[in-house]
Amino acid sequence: MYVWVAAALAVASCGFMLVSLVTLRAVRRERALLAATRAVVATSGAPGDPEYAGAGLMADESVAAGAMLGTILEADVTALNARLSAARTGVADLGAKAELDRVADKLREATTEAHLWRTVPEGREHLTAATGALASAGRHLSRASALAIGRPAPADAPPCLFDPAHGPATREVEWAPHPSTAPRRIPVCEADHARVASGRAAAVRSVIGPGGQQPYYDTPGYGDWLLGYFTGYDPYQVARLLDGTVLGRQIPGRITSRGRHAADTGGDVGTVHFA
Ligand SMILES: [Zn+2]
Repeated sequence: MYVWVAAALAVASCGFMLVSLVTLRAVRRERALLAATRAVVATSGAPGDPEYAGAGLMADESVAAGAMLGTILEADVTALNARLSAARTGVADLGAKAELDRVADKLREATTEAHLWRTVPEGREHLTAATGALASAGRHLSRASALAIGRPAPADAPPCLFDPAHGPATREVEWAPHPSTAPRRIPVCEADHARVASGRAAAVRSVIGPGGQQPYYDTPGYGDWLLGYFTGYDPYQVARLLDGTVLGRQIPGRITSRGRHAADTGGDVGTVHFA
């Protein structure tokens, strides 16, 4: 009997050590990212400075925001893969199945683009392509979900502005990012619409920034990530939706740096339309 008790204790302590190691690694990684972000922000001004969204951004992104972007990109691919697996269970409609196959294609594309972004020097376009593929995967998943229950597939829509990983917007709400900024109507997902309508806080995407966990739209370096999610819509409109935030100031510079404008027929043309 003592042998069994000793064996059980050994297994339990191994499990505890494993969990502790994993937790420790996660905490260390988060601290390292936060320290890197603080170092970057210390050399590139502060929100509100006219030059904050300026030329230093690319160098910043390769250090701290780049590491965080890699983490959230991985998380978004993993989350969509999990939703794809769940959606495949028991689905019989052929149209829905075809849409789910397109989700899988787009997730592979996102993974490839994310890899290229990490490995190709000056490969910022690949970050935008990765989140563009994720947005497309989200739209195909929404169509599959509707078709699977006998409903017509929804029309294309821009992603939820509170967190583009929530998928396509179905509603709009009036929102101001800060008490001092003017309210505007923004596209949001069904769940966030319900939260706001009942007086609760929206599920805003938070990332690690200079102040710790904070909304992505007030964190430098997420412009290309966000613009990819809004591929096919007017990028200047995206900036206007985030007027009064860090990204609202940075995005016009990111568009110009790519040599694209809202009037370019070959660029990110279109308007952000609301349901
Ligand atoms: Zn949402």
